Amino acid sequence: MQVDLQTIRQFEQEIAQASSTQQLYEVKVKYLGKKGIISELSKQLKDVPNDQKKEFGMMIGELRSSFESQYEVQEKKLAQAELSAKLTGESLDITMSGLPMNSGSIHPIMSVYYEIVNIFTSMGFEVAVGPEAELDLFNFEMLNIPKEHPARDMQDTFYISEDILLRTHTSPVQARTMQSQQPPIKIIAPGKVYRCDYDLTHTPMFHQVEGLLVDKDVTFGDLKGTLTEFIQRMFGKDIPVRFRPSFFPFTEPSAEVDMGCVICGCKGCRVCKGTGWLEILGCGMVNNEVFKHAGYDTDIYRGFAFGMGIERITMLKYGIGDLRSFFENNLKFLRQF
Ligand SMILES: [Zn+2]
Repeated sequence: MQVDLQTIRQFEQEIAQASSTQQLYEVKVKYLGKKGIISELSKQLKDVPNDQKKEFGMMIGELRSSFESQYEVQEKKLAQAELSAKLTGESLDITMSGLPMNSGSIHPIMSVYYEIVNIFTSMGFEVAVGPEAELDLFNFEMLNIPKEHPARDMQDTFYISEDILLRTHTSPVQARTMQSQQPPIKIIAPGKVYRCDYDLTHTPMFHQVEGLLVDKDVTFGDLKGTLTEFIQRMFGKDIPVRFRPSFFPFTEPSAEVDMGCVICGCKGCRVCKGTGWLEILGCGMVNNEVFKHAGYDTDIYRGFAFGMGIERITMLKYGIGDLRSFFENNLKFLRQF
């Protein structure tokens, strides 16, 4: 049996020269495939004379294992090279610009809140704060609203116990200030207040700012000047302002303040119900009963107080129709500001 070993041994060169795993695989098929050169030799084994069978078989086995060991080494080398080429091709470009970061901004209510605080502090008012869970005493009693007083029906109150409630207005801060301080007093009290109410124009929590000024010789003219200045700095210096007589238990006389409608330019629209005027805050000269509760001498001291809803001012400033949109956290709405 003649075997051209030199020709068969060419697989060593072919394995070494294969430049890809695919090419290497083709070499394997050529020699070890079903009809491969080495496989064909195995088929001839049966025709080999008995005395040569052992030698022939060993030769085939040697060829096969030699092929496989060289193949394995080359395959590892090529696979490694292909992997690193792939990794290099897919590398990250760290100089590319990233996605933009979303940054938050101040909520429209808080933005107006700070604007109101800025205007009054620039006029010499100090900011005073008090607890949101308040004693009935400060929320009603000391403000001339005793139990059974009809004014308590004007506000639906969240009671925690018989004596403790969630404050229904920021006025208790005034009561607390008067209890702990002697005149002159010149404060504003901004903050959250709570009432059982929920519809187009009411939410259970909302924001108020109240103001209190107590001193000698304070007149209604001072009150009018202060609030007119505030409204014109908030909405524009040409906005007309008017005072209408009203009633509040803790002031006497009391007034409600209207400003010219900023939506229609005082011509009359849906928001101002065709009147050209918008109600914006309540105010008055501090009732002597309130001073008596605080122990102030009513022959010496006079004072004025005012209060407004921050939501209402924000709605008017930005032309927003539904109060509830402030608290729904809808990003489409909030991103407009
Ligand atoms: Zn109007």
